[in-house]
Amino acid sequence: MYMSDKYYTTIGLEIHVELNTLSKMFCGCKNDPDEEIPNKNICPVCMAHPGTLPVANKKAIENVIKVGLALGGNIADFSEFDRKNYFYPDIPKAYQISQYKYPIVSGGHLLGVDITRVHLEEDTATSSHSNEGSLVNFNRAGVPLMELVTEPCIHDTDTLSAFAHELQTLLRYLNVSDANIEKGQMRVEVNISVSTDPNKLGVPTEVKNIGSFRSAVKAALYEQKRMIDLIEEGKIGEIVKETRGWDDAKQKTISQRSKENAEDYRYFPDPDLPKMYLHKAFDIEKMRSELPELPEAKRLRYRNDYGIKDEDIESYIEDRELGAWFENLATVLSDQTKIKTASNYITSDYLGLKKSNLEVRLPDIKNFAELMNMVADGMISSRVAKDILAMIVIADESPMKIATEKDLIQKNDEGALKEIAKIVIDANPVVVATYKGGKENALMSLVGQIMKETKGSANPALVQKILKELMV
Ligand SMILES: [Zn+2]
Repeated sequence: MYMSDKYYTTIGLEIHVELNTLSKMFCGCKNDPDEEIPNKNICPVCMAHPGTLPVANKKAIENVIKVGLALGGNIADFSEFDRKNYFYPDIPKAYQISQYKYPIVSGGHLLGVDITRVHLEEDTATSSHSNEGSLVNFNRAGVPLMELVTEPCIHDTDTLSAFAHELQTLLRYLNVSDANIEKGQMRVEVNISVSTDPNKLGVPTEVKNIGSFRSAVKAALYEQKRMIDLIEEGKIGEIVKETRGWDDAKQKTISQRSKENAEDYRYFPDPDLPKMYLHKAFDIEKMRSELPELPEAKRLRYRNDYGIKDEDIESYIEDRELGAWFENLATVLSDQTKIKTASNYITSDYLGLKKSNLEVRLPDIKNFAELMNMVADGMISSRVAKDILAMIVIADESPMKIATEKDLIQKNDEGALKEIAKIVIDANPVVVATYKGGKENALMSLVGQIMKETKGSANPALVQKILKELMV
């Protein structure tokens, strides 16, 4: 991020998350983000027919409480739903059911970023526009939508990006949302301001329509530069409190509308929904004790138990199936050196293979452990180990069987290697002369030929020793 002694950038985030409950927030309609037929999962409640009444989805409230507990936030004793009044075709009630004064969660923190609040509301319908007119699809109308607001306490885009990623991981660990940002299940809005006074915030803008974590960073950087340029040009008055949209094609933000204040929405408690006494309706302490192991605790455990690299740990945090598989493997190997070596093969070789081939699967733990033991015992070279790994991730087989069948067991038999070395020396008189003339490097050419001759199964250190002895 743009660093300067003159300007202070402050960022706060508003993140909306579609919860993965079976049904919608205030009716029994199916909550299915993958439904492709428009207006399939709808009913009079989520269509806002007159006289219909909402019933709150307890599971959605429970999910927000879980998030609050995982963030170390305070779960409110009293909470309620409010009506946020505004008109738009995708919200035909002319109000959205949201929360205002009494959110379910207040406080908490994640990766050093302070959380202001977490509340629950309903998602809107989706509209699409064409030359023939506009269409509204109500499948998404009334889907439980969690909103998390951070304090304006972020000052660089690395923290912004790390926080958003960590929240996504946390939501997945808690199994409350798939949090797929490309599918709109997680939507990041960036509130940003630039000030020349470290003790005062500048006039903020809010950037919406951000489709990826990378775009969130780009939008923040763009806004920061735009604001600094205006200040430098003496046009600080042109920075106004407004909502801007990120245009990914043009890589810039565009003014959309002046930002509403809370009073514009005329919030008031929804009389159709009961007040919520959360500590009576839920066993909060039991929920706290039943939280799964969270990413931060898992990182610490992996670091202590396995002593592996931080980059490796992140691979296991992000891919939980891989993490669980690795933990089982570590139990079988039960030797820190072997575990570290195994982790290298998994994160560089296995993940590399997986990227280039969709058929690649995690092999049977028994087979992978066997491969690691063969490496540790010096039975196969690391080159051969990589070749065998590439085979067992497609057709899961015993590495020992493969190595035996294909004659890949490392040859430590000095007598046999000496015979091969003699043949190679006889066939390369020029190289031998060069070596004897003082060019040490010529030796590697001979080693290479012997490795080729033995399909990589010769022990290279032993080969060098034999060659040197033969060419004295
Ligand atoms: Zn419905």
